[in-house]
Amino acid sequence: MQNLSKSKQWDAIVVGGGAAGLSAALMLGRARRSVLIIDAGSPRNRFAAHMHGVLGHENTPPRELVQRGREEVASYGGQFLDAEVTGVDAAAHGVEVSLESGERHMARALIVATGITDRLPEIPGLAERWGISVFHCPYCHGWEVADARLGVLATSPMAVHQAQMVRQWSDRVTLFAGAGGVDDDVRERLVSRGVVVIDQEVTSVVGDGTAINAVTTADGAATPIDAIFTAPTVQTHDGFLATLNLEREESPFGAGSLISVDQVGKTSLDRIWAVGNVVNPMANVPMVIGAGAFTGAAVNGVLIEEEFNLASVGGSE
Ligand SMILES: Cc1cc2nc3c(=O)[nH]c(=O)nc-3n(C[C@H](O)[C@H](O)[C@H](O)COP(=O)(O)OP(=O)(O)OC[C@H]3O[C@@H](n4cnc5c(N)ncnc54)[C@H](O)[C@@H]3O)c2cc1C
Repeated sequence: MQNLSKSKQWDAIVVGGGAAGLSAALMLGRARRSVLIIDAGSPRNRFAAHMHGVLGHENTPPRELVQRGREEVASYGGQFLDAEVTGVDAAAHGVEVSLESGERHMARALIVATGITDRLPEIPGLAERWGISVFHCPYCHGWEVADARLGVLATSPMAVHQAQMVRQWSDRVTLFAGAGGVDDDVRERLVSRGVVVIDQEVTSVVGDGTAINAVTTADGAATPIDAIFTAPTVQTHDGFLATLNLEREESPFGAGSLISVDQVGKTSLDRIWAVGNVVNPMANVPMVIGAGAFTGAAVNGVLIEEEFNLASVGGSE
């Protein structure tokens, strides 16, 4: 573990060193702020070999983007701790962050960029193919499986929307709608563009290694399929903030309860911001990079105001 002073008060601590946190840290580092990035090292897209839809980074492996980002942040003085944050307390003129080791670090501002975990339905053959032949986002992976036999595995009524989306990438789309099926008018709409609807529970995904050959259903049928799209349940990594009682709101996209933030990521508590998938699970890499940059600049702005406030009442600097 890196040798960092425990008594130092950082200008900012960023919890989570994925695309969002690194982008915020880059802005702060370039603004000559002392920044500590504490990261558990499991970015959400680590299951995929390459990223897509990220301008200037087509086909870049996710770990490579993070590594380059770390080097860029470090070049402006940012420091890193590979650790998991387990708690945050409000402190005089700042926050105190606790690690699972019991170590504590103080900062004037906190940026939470801890992302989410995708919880997949418990269907044999599904989880081990996540990010390889099982996907959630056609913008990230649709091009690579264009014109293939694509399955959409329903996990909520939003699956109808996902099936319509996926139809943009292939005219061979099957919606596995579950035993409840879909309403007749919805079925007609899907069938009008060639989408096949199967009203059966999916029992397994089968294939060789990470490739998919077929999806089996409760009636014993095996439907030939090359790749699957599905919507996992979102689990936000914000449990370590629970004692702060930050305001929350229901996601408009069915992603559950999320920490409420304003346009720059400010939470209901002064000195605490949140950005990236942890507050916007729908956002892809370029979106969270943009949001992170905005949050980093906003935090710097608040620190600047605080410094002038202190100085003008005869404080310091
Ligand atoms: C399979 C898959 C493929 C994808 N492919 C693409 C793609 O091709 N293009 C694209 O644009 N988007 C893609 N995405 C979306 C992309 O993963 C997210 O947009 C992006 O990772 C969000 O960045 P983030 O910084 O918010 O979170 P993350 O990248 O998940 O980073 C969060 C970081 O915080 C750390 N962390 C969590 N809790 C703690 C804690 N308590 N203490 C310390 N650290 C903590 C995590 O370990 C992690 O390193 C894909 C997603 C998946 C699931």
